[in-house]
Formats: sequence, structure tokens, C-alpha cells
Amino acid sequence: PATADVEALQHADVAELLPRPAAESDKYRRGVVGVVAGSARYPGAAVLAVAGALRGGAGAVRYVGPAAQAVLARFPETLVHTGPPGKAGRVQSWVIGPGLGDESEGLEDVLSADVPVLVDADGLRFLAPDQVRRRAAGTLLTPHAGEAAALLGRGREEVEAARLDSVRELAGRYGATVLLKGSTTLVADPAAGVPVRVNPTGTGWLATAGSGDVLSGLTGALLAAGLAPRDAGSVGAYLHGLAGRHAAGPRGEPIVASEVAGALGAAWENVVS
Ligand code: AMP
Ligand code: MG
Repeated sequence: PATADVEALQHADVAELLPRPAAESDKYRRGVVGVVAGSARYPGAAVLAVAGALRGGAGAVRYVGPAAQAVLARFPETLVHTGPPGKAGRVQSWVIGPGLGDESEGLEDVLSADVPVLVDADGLRFLAPDQVRRRAAGTLLTPHAGEAAALLGRGREEVEAARLDSVRELAGRYGATVLLKGSTTLVADPAAGVPVRVNPTGTGWLATAGSGDVLSGLTGALLAAGLAPRDAGSVGAYLHGLAGRHAAGPRGEPIVASEVAGALGAAWENVVS
């Protein structure tokens, strides 16, 4: 493997990429994120993805799915939509997958939209490479090692033992940007010669239930603000890592995913100051 062509975003790169509202901005220009997530069994995944998107700087979040009550109870700011995502109104990026369980409803609609789409978690199970390849707008897949292994038809250990090759292979197969989560998060583009980005900010405290759902929403907000999938993925992982560290505190103590979302503001401030 060509281990030389990897790179890490520096603090200054992230500061430059972070979308900040122009003085004359409005919520639509900030970016509206559509979130298709959650199920009767996993309503919390929807709440955490929405939290990530709102705290990630979205101008507004539209939620489509069966967990609207749980989402509204935590975030009355959310615009909820019942019916297919295609009819949800103006959206600048879609996030689909966290906590969907066995439901693939909405995936076709979202993939046919002319805006960037992030597919995570259960959404990945229903995704055919051809469906992704023929999309005109950007697509970002965010599997953890187990999900990547399922997509590749291999064991999780095989992926863990060859993370760089695995993320590149997936990007090539789907013709999409792929963010492979884990102890060192990697972001690969399908185009040849583009270095894989390695995230330098992670912490083992992020290995906690729901943490990936927050990352999905956050990264969706960065896509909605106009960042390219590769930048959105690597800036998202960077902020998520900083937020995890901030929440865990200087000595390191256990955190829960909603605290990671809550610490995104502090992570943001750390980058811009
Ligand atoms: P998920 O498995 O979808 O809940 O996502 C877990 C999140 O925690 C991802 O952002 C991972 O990159 C992160 N994560 C998991 N394990 C570790 C680890 N050992 N070190 C740093 N980050 C981790
Ligand atoms: Mg997950």
C-alpha cells in the first residue's frame, strides 16, 4: 500500500474551512440539513443526529421519520415533516441512516436529490454501488469498521488490519467519499492521487453509543454549508474529536454522546480562536 499519500488537516486548515455566517446571511444560506434517521426501536439516534446538525451550524434541520416526538422534545427548533423526504421542502444536504433499523424507506428519494448526501449506519445496508455512482451531487459514506466489513464482504478484523486499503477500496467501489470511523478516522476520495486524510483529534472516550450519530449530523451541516464531501468529512471528524476531548475534560472522564454534541460549540471556538 502507498502509505505515503496520507495527510492530516492542521488546526489552521480547519479554521479556514469552517463555515461562518456572512453578515447578510439567513438560515437558508447557512444551510438546511434533512435528517432521515431513527425508528421506534432507536429514536435516540434521530435526536443525536439532529443535535449534531444543529450544533454543527445548520441554519435549520428538517427531520423526516418516526421519531419526531422525541426529536421535538429535545429540539423544538426542528422542522418535522411527515411523508417522503422528496416532499420535505428546501434542503441543502441529506443525512440518512442512524438508527433506521430495517427500514430503507426514503433512501431512493434522498439519493435522487440534487444535493450532497451522507449515508451512515443502517442506511449503508441498503445501498447499491450503482445507485451511488450515478449521483450527480456528492456522496459521503461514514461506516465504522464493522459496517465497512459488511460492505466489503469481509470480517471486521480484516478491515481493522488494513484500514487504509479498505477505505480506498470502498471509495473506488462506490465512486464516493468514504469516512472510515475508529481510533484513527480516515477520509478517502474516489479520485486517484488524492491523499487520504487522517484525523489527529480523536479520543477513545468517543467510543460510546450514539457518538457516530452526532458525527453524521455535524458533517451533514458542513455539507449543507457548501464544504466538499472530503472537507466536510475531515473537518467533521476534527471537530467531533475536539468536542469529545473537551467533554471528557483535562484528565479524561466518561462522556455520553449528547455531551459531545453539547461540546461542539467549544470545539468550534477552540478552532477559530
Ligand atoms: P459509531 O460507531 O457510529 O457510534 O461511531 C463512533 C464514533 O466514535 C466515531 O466518530 C469514531 O471515529 C469514534 N471512535 C470510536 N472508537 C474510537 C477510538 N478508539 N478512538 C477515537 N475515536 C473513536
Ligand atoms: Mg453508528
